[in-house]
Amino acid sequence: MSTQETRDRCRYVPFITLSLTEPKPCIWITLSGCNFHCKGCFSSARDTVGELINVDELINWVQNSSRTYNNTAPLEEAIITGGEPTLDKDFLLDLVKKLKTRVAVKQITLSTNGYLLNGNYVKELKGAGLDEVKLDIKAYTNSIHQWYTGMSNRPVLEAARYLWGSKLDFRVETVLMPGIVDVEETSG
Ligand code: SF4
Repeated sequence: MSTQETRDRCRYVPFITLSLTEPKPCIWITLSGCNFHCKGCFSSARDTVGELINVDELINWVQNSSRTYNNTAPLEEAIITGGEPTLDKDFLLDLVKKLKTRVAVKQITLSTNGYLLNGNYVKELKGAGLDEVKLDIKAYTNSIHQWYTGMSNRPVLEAARYLWGSKLDFRVETVLMPGIVDVEETSG
């Protein structure tokens, strides 16, 4: 991508959250908009809300807030979350790369529903400097997943396979919903 194309690529960002409490200084970057329609979603970032900004502007936000509140100490961790952060691959790759090179964040974690993560995408994220993926698997049984999110879980389970092969750190999280996603389902 050319520098101009990178500059033109924007996403809606409703807020960033800086935490300086123990165990380490970290920042949550929320990118709004999502490809799932989870029935129990309580995220205010599911819809495209916030300010439409490009990666450089977002990095400036991160640097300014970090300098203001965290003095010159480096940020230990950045968690990129949503909404769904993977919707725009080029934006996400650029963000990960610049968090690593311009902000010198030690650990970058991506929190995702995994639907768009294929083998190449995972490889490119790793190459850009991503350290860890937190993958949400809403349900192991496809019919439940489909009913709950509006989407098939097959690409999500495939994403888990790619992540396993990538040697990136990754963990799987799910939701316990009594009567819908029970213990048997979460231990699938
Ligand atoms: S994947 Fe997350 S943000 Fe998207 S609808 Fe589901 S709970 Fe909400």
